[in-house]
Amino acid sequence: MTRLVWFRNDLRTIDNPALHYCCEGEVEEASRANSIRVAAIYVLCQEYIDTHPIGEKKLGFIKNALLNLSSDLAQLGIVLDVLYVERKRDIAESVADYCQKWKVTDVYLNKEYPLDERERDRDVEKRCLEEDIAFHSYHDRCLIPPGAVKTQAGSYYKVFTPFSKAWLQLARATDFTVYPRPSSVREPVDVAHRAIEAVFLNVTKEGNSSLWPADEKSALEALRTFTKNHIVDYHNYRDIPSELGTSKISPYLTVGLLSPKQCYIAARQADASGNSQGVSTWLNELIWREFYMHVVAIFSKVCKGFPLITYTENIPWRDSEADFEKWCAGITGIPIVDAAMRQLNSTGWMHNRLRMVVAMFLTKNLLIDWRKGEAYFMSQLIDGDFSANNGGWQWCASTGTDSAPYFRVMNPVAQSERYDPKGDFIRQWVPELAHLDNKKIHNPSGVNGYPEAMVDLKSTRKEAIAVFKSAKDAV
Ligand code: FAD
Repeated sequence: MTRLVWFRNDLRTIDNPALHYCCEGEVEEASRANSIRVAAIYVLCQEYIDTHPIGEKKLGFIKNALLNLSSDLAQLGIVLDVLYVERKRDIAESVADYCQKWKVTDVYLNKEYPLDERERDRDVEKRCLEEDIAFHSYHDRCLIPPGAVKTQAGSYYKVFTPFSKAWLQLARATDFTVYPRPSSVREPVDVAHRAIEAVFLNVTKEGNSSLWPADEKSALEALRTFTKNHIVDYHNYRDIPSELGTSKISPYLTVGLLSPKQCYIAARQADASGNSQGVSTWLNELIWREFYMHVVAIFSKVCKGFPLITYTENIPWRDSEADFEKWCAGITGIPIVDAAMRQLNSTGWMHNRLRMVVAMFLTKNLLIDWRKGEAYFMSQLIDGDFSANNGGWQWCASTGTDSAPYFRVMNPVAQSERYDPKGDFIRQWVPELAHLDNKKIHNPSGVNGYPEAMVDLKSTRKEAIAVFKSAKDAV
């Protein structure tokens, strides 16, 4: 008899409820007596990779995380198999086949909230039940499960600030404990690295994510270093892209090398007085992450490409492939936008302030559809996460949860002067401007080898506001 844990965006052994319950109690005993074994799978689906999309950098990161996870699981006596399927609709059958082959009696997994993933899990559950296989699912992507944070009238929040207040109240009333790493269920087994590498050859050629070591120990170390040394100053430095002011743990949270609970507990422990502004500001960012997962789970039209605010369906976005390509390549002639896009293209990560700046520039100054930017980000990000990315894009495009009206349009040059005052970040990523002084570097013109600004920021801002106004007035 076999119990199966299906890993997805929870590639860790500590604080993993699915793994914990799969291995706990009588299973440990029975396994030691060799009457029960625990197995593990990860499903790699080509169609899912193509449509979401998951880019090379994130795929490489997932591959490395799985290789490390398979070593950790092997120490516990658990073999991790990676199943490759072409089409989403084949996933249920593939998991059912695996279950049949290994005489699986129970499947354990942690829930995911986007619509595609919920439909996939519903299909697999149905298929398992047909085969008399028990299905056990747990919440672990959020600290407070989506749906649990409600207004007093019992409805769901669409705006962040009241959501965050209600969230904090619930969190403070909860005693969170971390699930320990399971003790070994059998003698250590051989690691299946070659098999995993071979499956990944189907989907990735480069798989280079060397900036983020993809193992649980490094993830916990990154969290520890940040909460020990930097979190107290987070509110002072979080908006300065040239500083090491943020945690850079987003890739770890995205694939689940860390859990939000581990982050919350680490932050609380760093705040002995309970009054640290750095800690509360950082927790607020974790709550944004939870908020966007809540939006995706409750208002699932955002999973089908629709904006949250209905009237914005009528915005006549500009269709200019040439302008879009300049934005993607980081050759817009606006230094801070170009620096940010080149950071993204090169490392797979971009500072939060700059994600906002480049997204507003694309959707407001260029009036290009936010869905194009959203997809491009997903294809490049190492931390690409549907909820945070969709939420961030819709917020910037004024089609989503921003409580301010559509006339919030950041001026990228003003942002650059404010948050990169000496041009350090621009110099790092746009070396052709490195020789300019601290003033000129934000707004260069006539510099050899660097393009002129592709649009006039003031007039395009006005045009965007007029377009939004007439779409709103039309309903
Ligand atoms: P920190 O500032 O240290 O914050 C800690 C954690 O909180 C982050 O790791 C992240 O998990 C979460 N977080 C912080 N800010 C946000 C936010 N605004 N929304 C949701 N979660 C947040 N984040 C992703 O993880 N994946 C994405 O695909 C993604 N796409 C984005 C697209 C746009 C247009 C925008 C504006 C933001 C996007 N974000 C995304 C949110 C944010 O930019 C990143 O989470 C953050 O830059 C990661 O860096 P960090 O780990 O140093 O964050």
